[in-house]
Formats: sequence, C-alpha cells, structure tokens
Amino acid sequence: MYDVIIVGAGTAGLSAAIYAVRAGKSALVIEAASYGGQIINTPDIENYPGIAHISGFDFATGLYNQAKDLGAEVKFERVTEIADEGSIKRVRTSQGQYECKAVILATGAKNRPLGLPNEKELVGKGVSYCATCDGMFYRNRVVAVNGGGNTALEDAQFLSNYCSKVYLIHRRDKFRADEKEVERLKAKDNVEFVLNSTISKLNEDETGLVSIDVTDKNSGETRNIEVSGLFVAIGQSPDNIAFENVAELDEKGYIKAGEDMKTGTEGIFTAGDCRTKTVRQLTTAASDGATAALQACGYIDSLS
Ligand code: NAP
Repeated sequence: MYDVIIVGAGTAGLSAAIYAVRAGKSALVIEAASYGGQIINTPDIENYPGIAHISGFDFATGLYNQAKDLGAEVKFERVTEIADEGSIKRVRTSQGQYECKAVILATGAKNRPLGLPNEKELVGKGVSYCATCDGMFYRNRVVAVNGGGNTALEDAQFLSNYCSKVYLIHRRDKFRADEKEVERLKAKDNVEFVLNSTISKLNEDETGLVSIDVTDKNSGETRNIEVSGLFVAIGQSPDNIAFENVAELDEKGYIKAGEDMKTGTEGIFTAGDCRTKTVRQLTTAASDGATAALQACGYIDSLS
C-alpha cells in the first residue's frame, strides 16, 4: 500500500513526487512512456526561474533523478483504470495493480495531429511531431514547421541551424509564442514565414512526403511547397478518458479542478497540463505538482 500514486512522470508528476516524499509519504510514480513529458524535447529552456539556460532533456533528467534520490519509486507501465474504493484506491496497469490512499493524475497532454487523411501513414516518412528527435534526418534539406506557439517557433529556430530552408506556416498573423522567439526567427535568412495559411494536403511519392499544399485563408489561393519534412507543432490535447470514472472532464477532455487540484472524487487530485487551466508552462506544472502533493498529504493525514 502506497500513500500516493502519481500517474505521469512529467514535470507536474515528478514535482508532486518530490513534495510527497519530502512530506514523509511513500510515493509511486507510474509512467506509460519515458520520464520527462513534453519538455524533454525542448532544445533550450530559458524561462524557468533561477535557471538561465538548460536543455529539456537535462531539466527532465535532473527532476527524475531528484525524485528518485529522495525516495520516490518509478515504474514504467500504462495505467488502464483507477477504482475508487473510498479510503483505498486501486490503480490497475498493463502489468498488475497497486493500492494507495491518494492518487494524483498528472497525465499531461499529447501532440495534436493536423487531421489530414495520409498524415498517420507519413509519420517517420516526412511527418514528425518532434524537431529535436527527428530534425537531424533533414540536414541540408527543406522543411516546414506548422504552428504559432513557442514549440513551433523553437522548432523552426532549431531546424534553421542545419536545414537549408525552413517554412514557418501559421494560420494567423499573430503568434502565441513569446515576441522574443518571433523576432529571433525573423532575423534568420533561411526562414520564410507563410502566415494566415493552413496546410490543406500532404503530397507523397513512394519515398514519403514530397510537398505540401498551403492555402491562404484571405485569398483562398493554394500554393505548393516542396519539402522533405513537415514538423507539426499545433499544440496538445489531453488523454484522460480512462479516468473519467474518478475525475470529471471538461468538453475538451481536461480534468476539471481548481487551484486546490481537487477533482470531484475524495482522494483523487490532478496536476499539470492535463488540468483545466489557461497557462500551461513548466513553472505552472511544477507549481501544480507541489500543490497536489501537499493536498494529497493533508487528505491522507485526515484518514488516520
Ligand atoms: P500552443 O501555445 O497551444 O500553440 C499551438 C499553435 O498551433 C497555435 O499557434 C495555434 O494557432 C496553432 N494551431 C492549433 N490548432 C491548429 C490547427 N488545427 N491547425 C493549424 N494550427 C493550429 O502550443 P505549444 O506551442 O505546443 O505550447 C504549449 C505550451 O507549452 C504553451 O503554454 C507554451 O508557451 C509552452 N511552451 C513553452 C516552451 C518554453 O518555455 N521554452 C517551449 C515550448 C512550449 P492559434 O494561435 O491561431 O490558436
């Protein structure tokens, strides 16, 4: 019997683990993929207070080691179901089941696809959702990045360092990304901004992606752009359906909870990008994790 089981080893989940074990509770973190969550693919973080520059990989690895060194246990299994039996929660996974007093859902969010017909088939053959993972395959070639948030702008910046040309395609002419990122990218000679435009078609031959059709929203005109690679960076969507029996979801699938991280079920808490909120940043994920852990500890103490 663990005091708390944390679902997800991203920034929110690992921060929760650190706070739980430092409060004297036993904590098990269960992660379906690898530790770190989305930030592991970010080349350079420069907005985490107190750390001027760090790669996403180094940040995530530091957090993971910190949680483990403090005594958190980590298992790499997929959580398939949570059964609420009052003061005991049963967490079923792909490999077995575990009991605990409180659960923190920190499941993050996954990359949103464009939804074009042949997109799935072209993954690994020209379509990618991770510039730092796959960018090197496109050295000296022409690529496109789709999106207007920090991920897209950072991906385009990263790719522009070794691709011959990078098209940045965005559906508006205003960016969600930090102004500094936009200005930095505009200063690059090998980056072309294609704004107010959406990708309407992915064209392929037997080798994979060869070009994209891009439609200008204002003129209605479609332009064909030859690219070897397309990096889709149009945000994330949550994956919480398996937990809707213990946590109410909003219309987009995010877990409904306020700043106290409490779901509608006693002993079930949430933290990070999987929660309904307006700002999803590393700092807010870490903050959610700390709050959720301390709320869970308070709940566990109230049981005895
Ligand atoms: P995001 O900020 O949600 O941006 C998603 C972008 O994709 C938006 O520009 C959006 O356009 C566009 N988009 C959404 N759906 C689309 C569709 N179907 N077709 C075409 N375009 C579409 O996502 P993100 O860039 O992945 O960032 C997620 C969070 O992580 C943000 O809070 C971001 O600041 C943070 N982040 C931080 C760092 C860092 O601090 N180093 C790095 C990466 C990400 P509209 O603008 O028109 O809606």
